[in-house]
Amino acid sequence: ELLQWAETVLKPAAELAAKGEGEYKAGDHCRFCKIKATCRKRTEYNLELARYDFAVPSTLQDEEIEAVLSKADELVNWAGDVKEYALQQALSGKQWDGWKLVEGRSNRRYVSEEAVAAKVEEAGFDPYEKKLLGITVMTKQLGKKRFKELLSDLVEKPQGKPVLVPESDKRPAMHTATDDFNDEK
Ligand code: SF4
Repeated sequence: ELLQWAETVLKPAAELAAKGEGEYKAGDHCRFCKIKATCRKRTEYNLELARYDFAVPSTLQDEEIEAVLSKADELVNWAGDVKEYALQQALSGKQWDGWKLVEGRSNRRYVSEEAVAAKVEEAGFDPYEKKLLGITVMTKQLGKKRFKELLSDLVEKPQGKPVLVPESDKRPAMHTATDDFNDEK
């Protein structure tokens, strides 16, 4: 089936695309595309959301919120791709009207960790902090079996933060307080 699909669907589409013909179809796959930052079709696709005028959520209907949710991740990816493209262009000398390149924020750092440690020790202080090994490194150090024997009572997996995902996601739906409320009604 796959070979037949490749022959009858993929190959003709690829041939059209190679000639610059065929239809543009924006979607999740755009992230692999060479022109993802500047493609007009992808822009139109993502800007479809602009018709909601980004009104405050309380004035949107449920269906409108659902429409925004279904495109939000892609919209963010697309905006990121355009930003990255514009930055790279600016670094190569392109001037964008109303925009300029500046130095981003940066944090102080040691020039040489060894030199800092040596100097602090010399002055009579301890430059190091003692930290418990993380679970992955500790498991490596003890071996899986020993880790389980020694620490299985001391390891827990806290509940993950709720995330809103499409119905098609494999994870089971979370139980919420509203479910209890509805059950009692
Ligand atoms: S970015 Fe444009 S050309 Fe590339 S896959 Fe998406 S719609 Fe097609």
